[in-house]
Amino acid sequence: MPNTGGAGLSHHDVVVIGAGPGGASAAYHLLLASKLKVALVERLEDDRFAHYHRMCGEGISQAGLRGIDLPLEGLIEQPIAIVEEHWPGDIDVKVKVKGAIIDRVALLKRMKGRFLDMGGEMVDDSVSRIVGNGPGMEVHMASGGKLTTDHVIGADGAHSKVRGRFFPELEPRLIWADQFITDERTEKGVLHFHYDQHYLGGYKWVFPAKEGSRIGFPRGTEKMPEGVVERHRRAIPIAKPERVVNGRVCLVGDAACQVNSISFGGIRTAITAGRMAAKALAKDDLARYQREWMASSFAKASDIATYRRLSSMSNEEMARIAKPFGKGYVGFNATMAMIFSRDRALYLAFRKAGNYGW
Ligand SMILES: Cc1cc2nc3c(=O)[nH]c(=O)nc-3n(C[C@H](O)[C@H](O)[C@H](O)COP(=O)(O)OP(=O)(O)OC[C@H]3O[C@@H](n4cnc5c(N)ncnc54)[C@H](O)[C@@H]3O)c2cc1C
Repeated sequence: MPNTGGAGLSHHDVVVIGAGPGGASAAYHLLLASKLKVALVERLEDDRFAHYHRMCGEGISQAGLRGIDLPLEGLIEQPIAIVEEHWPGDIDVKVKVKGAIIDRVALLKRMKGRFLDMGGEMVDDSVSRIVGNGPGMEVHMASGGKLTTDHVIGADGAHSKVRGRFFPELEPRLIWADQFITDERTEKGVLHFHYDQHYLGGYKWVFPAKEGSRIGFPRGTEKMPEGVVERHRRAIPIAKPERVVNGRVCLVGDAACQVNSISFGGIRTAITAGRMAAKALAKDDLARYQREWMASSFAKASDIATYRRLSSMSNEEMARIAKPFGKGYVGFNATMAMIFSRDRALYLAFRKAGNYGW
């Protein structure tokens, strides 16, 4: 029997809306850090939840894994040691990295499991509206149920209702992406990124999957690959939030457009923001989350100007900017370009995205 908000009025200190990486992290970290009464509301169940959350490259850096604060046994599909960037002009840049393809659905289940073990309450319903922004505000469910709460964490993804209601100024550009899981195997341990003007500021990715590969690109920029076993379509919300807190309501993850605007990595940023918001609330100081997020390297690493510049670049220009890095991001040419080139800002933006954007 699914647990819905029910017809009655149940009061919580915090209601978290959405059990993706941002919301699951916020809910779990709230109970690790406090004795607050917390409800986690999620509209999708079982297969639909799993299908939604498999729509992802599931790539995360070693630093991102460390920030999860959970035992990771059984969650790593495979370690990642190399990123290969393929630029126009036949320029291939190979970078050594430390990261993994994670079983994202299993990670979310584990976080939810810990949250429930610590006394959290799961509500299987869809939030339709929120009334008020103060103690006792009302969270209404599609089923007709209702919760009251003193705080709301909006972790409801790219099309966030919480953002629309409390942060109307934050209007992201939605980059629709198609991802296909195919039965064709790709190299283990390697993430491939293909840049070209026809990806319109984005890129094509080819990542390993359990049985084959994940291939994705901005919608309509390529034909469907061969051997597709599963396909998905979702939006990546690109914007730079000026605020993530409004009174007793805050946003985390894609709801707050915290996905990195160059790498499009958002698992680590959502988990980090969820943890930051939880710790601020545990100290009864939500405004602290606003200050910490804005001052963080994650916020600084998301560079809309670089995304815009890439969107309008020709292949010739891409080949020109990639040229100093043909032998990698270290070495004489690369160092000189980082220090002296007129494209220095763009190179630094890429480096920051590599460090904080996945
Ligand atoms: C094609 C693609 C590939 C990607 N690959 C990567 C990658 O390899 N690495 C990486 O780091 N990032 C990747 N990302 C980005 C990453 O998936 C997102 O940034 C991340 O999922 C954000 O997490 P979130 O919790 O904020 O939102 P979401 O994952 O979108 O979760 C939101 C949750 O809220 C629920 N919800 C929504 N509305 C309501 C409502 N009204 N009531 C109740 N529940 C609601 C949803 O059902 C969902 O479970 C990719 C994104 C795309 C589109």
